Amino acid sequence: MKCICGVDGWKVKKITVGNHLNPEYWHLLSDDFYFCPNSECDVVYFDGRAIFTTKEVKTKVFFKEKGSPKPLCYCKQVTEEDVIEAIKRGAKSVEEVEEITGIGNGGHCVITNPSGRCCKLYYEGFIEDLLGKKDRDECRECCES
Ligand SMILES: [Zn+2]
Repeated sequence: MKCICGVDGWKVKKITVGNHLNPEYWHLLSDDFYFCPNSECDVVYFDGRAIFTTKEVKTKVFFKEKGSPKPLCYCKQVTEEDVIEAIKRGAKSVEEVEEITGIGNGGHCVITNPSGRCCKLYYEGFIEDLLGKKDRDECRECCES
């Protein structure tokens, strides 16, 4: 299903939407919600009837945020700023950043990450861009239940 911005949404579980949405909107929840992955779009979740924007969603969606701090890993509360700091202090690989910050080893992304997906999909690229590397591992599927 497409968002009003024209971008294809990602199907999300009801438990994911419910965890991030303000409780006053819970009565509108269904199993048919999608997440809008467009960083330029304020819509976070939508189905055929309801649209929830960053105003109705209490969790900050990292890549829709303009200010800082920007959350990267929701399980361990690690931000972009934490990652930049770890690299400043000498981390030279994704693994070293993971070790220093604890990023990515929470395993509860389906609940904690507003996209319902593993945060490694996002932070790995972010760290590698910072480190100037191109090699990319597959997501470890740490969030598969
Ligand atoms: Zn959108």
